[in-house]
Amino acid sequence: TQLVEIEAAQAAERTSQEIVQENRDYTLFSWSVQGAANPMLMKRAEGVYFWDGDDNRWLDFSAQLINMNVGHQHPKVLEAIKKQVDELCFAGPGFATEPRGVLGKKLAEVTGLAKAFFTLGGSEANENAMKIARLFTGRNKIITRYRSYHGATMGSMTASGDPRRWPVEPGIPGVVRAFDPYCYRCPFGQKVETCHRECVSHIEEIIQMEGPNEIAAILVEGITGSNGILVPPDDYYPKLRALCDKYGILLIDDEVMSGFGRTGKYLATQHYGIKPDIVTAAKGLTSGYMPLGTVIVSDPIAQYFETHMLYGGLTYSGHPVSCAAANANLAVYEEEQIFENVDTQGVYLADRLNAIKDKFDCVGDVRSIGLFSVIELVKDKASKEPLAPFNGTSAEMAKLAMYLKSQHLYAFTRFNMLWVCPPLVITQQQLAEGLDIIERGLALVDEALQHSRNH
Ligand code: PMP
Repeated sequence: TQLVEIEAAQAAERTSQEIVQENRDYTLFSWSVQGAANPMLMKRAEGVYFWDGDDNRWLDFSAQLINMNVGHQHPKVLEAIKKQVDELCFAGPGFATEPRGVLGKKLAEVTGLAKAFFTLGGSEANENAMKIARLFTGRNKIITRYRSYHGATMGSMTASGDPRRWPVEPGIPGVVRAFDPYCYRCPFGQKVETCHRECVSHIEEIIQMEGPNEIAAILVEGITGSNGILVPPDDYYPKLRALCDKYGILLIDDEVMSGFGRTGKYLATQHYGIKPDIVTAAKGLTSGYMPLGTVIVSDPIAQYFETHMLYGGLTYSGHPVSCAAANANLAVYEEEQIFENVDTQGVYLADRLNAIKDKFDCVGDVRSIGLFSVIELVKDKASKEPLAPFNGTSAEMAKLAMYLKSQHLYAFTRFNMLWVCPPLVITQQQLAEGLDIIERGLALVDEALQHSRNH
């Protein structure tokens, strides 16, 4: 029997490699040089863990692109999907279905807005938000920020300020960009304690230069995610809201990553007591169990479309199975007090991150809100020289990423930053497990930097 077991194990291993090879032979991987793509096989998953093709257990500190808020394979969401599949798997977007209405009502309730339009993900939600803003205002320009990501489709990619937009340029016309509330590296050379919130006031100058009556909307991430968890000063949003009101410009709040519990609230902007005119969301809306995005609009916008055509629609808008998954996911948030867990674990995480910042020379800054956090690495704390250049990488960052991998900690690194954004169901013990690994990785970086200073 031992021989049979060994043969079975070998067959299983071969199969894993074959699966990966087949993926590589016949599919293209996103944001990858294909020859260098090194996809891992995910065989199964549960909660904050997943298992690779060799049955290694990984702690998922990325929640799969900061998306699986209730964690992997939550039984209540799976059950709701199965039930909906059996009942009604698909209806065209012009039909009413029960899960669609239930979800719309819930979204109005939790955002304080009026009506939801459904898409398949975040990029399409932003495409439609920009289009809706143009239709409603009759204006065409959209102000976005440089350190932002709004999606990979042509329009949303153009709206993104981050270098990922470069290959699609010139992209769509009408996008104008502003600077970000990045207090650690203030683009205006200010200190947050003494500045005049130039990150907002310079936008007014841009509005003047671009023509106040030309600007339909300002599109911002609720809290900037994949460009480094840029938590703004408390009065940033009230000031931005006032600026929008002064010029009749819509505030579009992209909550694709920061929304639906990631920061402990439905919308990150709810921390600041303001209401956007349009919210876009995806990811945490279904925790990734089914593809779904949404554009949620204010009452005046909803009223406008009572008598005007909404030019836009997708075959899969309001897909019943996606809506059912979202309804179940949102029910889990409440039934299992997920946001309360974000608050509790968020305090522990912030404490640990602050200690990490004090302890390691290579850590320049840490930023967090709820379970949305980043560690920003530097060569030198005083000069703040990044450990890897903007839009690049370095041997030290590669070494850190390799170390985390070797310990089966799955975490997102980009440029000189390391994200800690686990599923929101994580326990303190699991957080500690991952943070301990990160500390050992940072110690290796400090050692390497020390070594290069001495030689
Ligand atoms: N907006 C933000 C803030 C995002 O982080 C992302 C994806 N990471 C998107 C939009 C695009 O969403 P999707 O990948 O679902 O199209």
